[in-house]
Amino acid sequence: MSVVASTHLPVPAIHGGPKAVEAAPGDLFTWPIVMKEDEEAVLEVLRRGAMSGLDVTRQFEKEFAEYHDVPYALAHPNGTAAILAGLWALGVRQGDEIIAPTVTYWASALPALGLGATVNFADIDPKTICIAPKDIESRIGPRTKVIVVVHYCAHPCDMDPIMEIARKHKLKVLEDVSHAHGGRYKGRMLGTIGDVACFSLMSGKSLAAGEGGMLVTKDREVYERAVAWGHYERTGSYSKWATCDSPLTDPELRKFAGLPLGGCKNRLNQLASAFGRVQLKHYPKRIEVIQRAMNRFWDLLEGTPGVRAHRVDPKSGSTMAGWYSAIGLYEASELGGVPIERFCDAVRAEGVECRPAGNQCLHVHPLFHEADIYGTGRPSTLVDKRRDVRQGPGTLPNAEAFSARCFSVPWFKHDRVDEIERYALAYKKASASLRGGN
Ligand SMILES: *Cc1c(COP(=O)(O)O)cnc(C)c1O
Repeated sequence: MSVVASTHLPVPAIHGGPKAVEAAPGDLFTWPIVMKEDEEAVLEVLRRGAMSGLDVTRQFEKEFAEYHDVPYALAHPNGTAAILAGLWALGVRQGDEIIAPTVTYWASALPALGLGATVNFADIDPKTICIAPKDIESRIGPRTKVIVVVHYCAHPCDMDPIMEIARKHKLKVLEDVSHAHGGRYKGRMLGTIGDVACFSLMSGKSLAAGEGGMLVTKDREVYERAVAWGHYERTGSYSKWATCDSPLTDPELRKFAGLPLGGCKNRLNQLASAFGRVQLKHYPKRIEVIQRAMNRFWDLLEGTPGVRAHRVDPKSGSTMAGWYSAIGLYEASELGGVPIERFCDAVRAEGVECRPAGNQCLHVHPLFHEADIYGTGRPSTLVDKRRDVRQGPGTLPNAEAFSARCFSVPWFKHDRVDEIERYALAYKKASASLRGGN
């Protein structure tokens, strides 16, 4: 099929043919979409001087919780702060371990070090690029407390086996949903399956509030601990101790009301809350359009040698959320072993910005091997001399092979058929150019 198809393609641009994409993209990729409504909501807070208040933030939390059909959502200044609070709220303490995927943004794992805990990095599944459920159980030790999962580049993790392992070993699960706001796993909303979920709302993310984070849970205890960690202003004041409207019911936490146990100040700027509220209101409709557009793009590329989609089967009830940081997976073996850089060069020649993409593995970074953050005279990741969880190159093969397999693809925000066809053609022509077709 591919050989026949390639004879119908125009000459690849890298061989002197016309570019597949000539026109400027206009607003095809613009995100977030900012309208008058967003501007007015932000200005309302600004004019009222309510930037450091809580009223708009509480409203944002309520709507975020409703969207996820959970009782509790707690806003944070960024996703990293929410993850730190979430890990502590799940019981991670000094000398403990968490398990996390090595391919992710650092904030999925590094906050554990801030708690005096360490990270045992797990490999990824080569198809989903999420934590490999098969590589979790052997990493569990006596001090393991939490499994962090990341729905990577919007692909839902395989949550069923992960939750089964967690329940069997009495571990907690933190879902890092910073790439997959509003996504589903077998019909269930991401962020409602584990014990706590943390979301980045940073400007580049799929649900963008400017800068911000959200922590979501069904568990009252987890919620109260996250409040006690960094939301001192909700629990009381130093002079009055616990106020009557403090959300803390746990007497152990109430004792410390008015001061944050984490020494963190986790209040979100209300300019972001106001913007986030408007973004959230339009979000479900907007990601439906994105899903249609991205599935259209990948349907067009079905069967293209060297190119694999990173997506879910829509019939499974799972979705790719807002398709944050859309990637494709490169199969060099189908194109004579040509390195990914040359494939990307051929796509760029067609007028499409394509680069090798994806996060570098965390487990090989010197910070996780050598950094003595606490001045104890040994690496801070070595929390127990009898149990060294540090891992060097060659230990997590799927993850280490990933950067040679991952390329960027357009993240369409509008379902424009003609334009999407031209972008797909760029990737098809690049593939053809490397097979010697034309
Ligand atoms: C962006 C991101 C975070 C951190 O969120 P910030 O809002 O930037 O602090 C955490 N985890 C993942 C996977 C991310 O991509």
